[in-house]
Amino acid sequence: MAGSGIILVSACLVGRPARYDGRFLDTTDFLAFLEGKRWIAVCPEMLGGLGWPRPPADLEGGDGYDVLAGRARVINAEGVDQTREFIRGAQAVLDMALSLDVQAVYLKDRSPSCGVHPMVDERGRRRGRGVLAALLAENGLPIIEVVGKKRSEPK
Ligand code: SF4
Repeated sequence: MAGSGIILVSACLVGRPARYDGRFLDTTDFLAFLEGKRWIAVCPEMLGGLGWPRPPADLEGGDGYDVLAGRARVINAEGVDQTREFIRGAQAVLDMALSLDVQAVYLKDRSPSCGVHPMVDERGRRRGRGVLAALLAENGLPIIEVVGKKRSEPK
């Protein structure tokens, strides 16, 4: 495959403190998959300046493509508009991916940043592709969704 051989992965998939709710995922299977590969963990929301843990946020008015085009926003559970932070973090990951000529980006499912495929949340609301996944796809980068399994209680 073309590229530097380096892959980027969502930070929460490899056990980094990144998820909004302070939980950690079961990383066993994914770390086994990564064995022998050259990889770098990234969290677009933290790169965008958001803390850990943090209130959940969701896309309003469209999917990640709409956010990038200015037709939708990212609003957190406290009503704060975090569109700028989400886009800034996604851009930082894109810059890294392009400068390293990465082979692929493995992204956690069901996230307003990283989610690749549309999903339906616990309240029955449909959410489309996340902001980071949309930006990477727009720039021709291969993106692969990974299902994250929770393993710990919230802090
Ligand atoms: S899904 Fe993406 S944005 Fe959310 S914690 Fe994991 S790496 Fe960060």
